[in-house]
Amino acid sequence: MYRIGSGIDFHQLVEGRDLWLGGVKIPHTKGALGHSDADVLLHAICDALLGALALGDIGTHFPDTSQEFKNIDSKILLERSFNLITIRGYKVVNVDASLCLEQPKIKPYVQEMQQVIAAILQVGIEDVSVKATTTEKMGFVGREEGLVAYATVLLQKK
Ligand SMILES: [Zn+2]
Repeated sequence: MYRIGSGIDFHQLVEGRDLWLGGVKIPHTKGALGHSDADVLLHAICDALLGALALGDIGTHFPDTSQEFKNIDSKILLERSFNLITIRGYKVVNVDASLCLEQPKIKPYVQEMQQVIAAILQVGIEDVSVKATTTEKMGFVGREEGLVAYATVLLQKK
């Protein structure tokens, strides 16, 4: 028994914030704005996990009006999303995710992101794909005003 889920997330890029992507802190002049650490990639994966079992979205489970989630490490949100699918008897088969941002280049950090995500989701790093693209300078991503992440996950009944 398989279930598939997709997730998408957006954040503004602003000065004076740290840039967290895939659970890794990346040196950059700007960071993502948000109630939590604003890790757009982990949020998209959370939404894909929740979506696969029609459990709503990240905002339902971890509201940005709650002090509990202020500046929270999104790895904790991913763990909690993962727990919601494991208690229902599912495991992760694989994750495929894409980041859409103009800068910085994330290639040097991809392997670490895969390791972080794979450890939380209890899969091998070969089961976690993290890709990146720019928008060829077009739109809000091209102007470096924000960034986007997309994720797809496949779940299997244990
Ligand atoms: Zn988010």
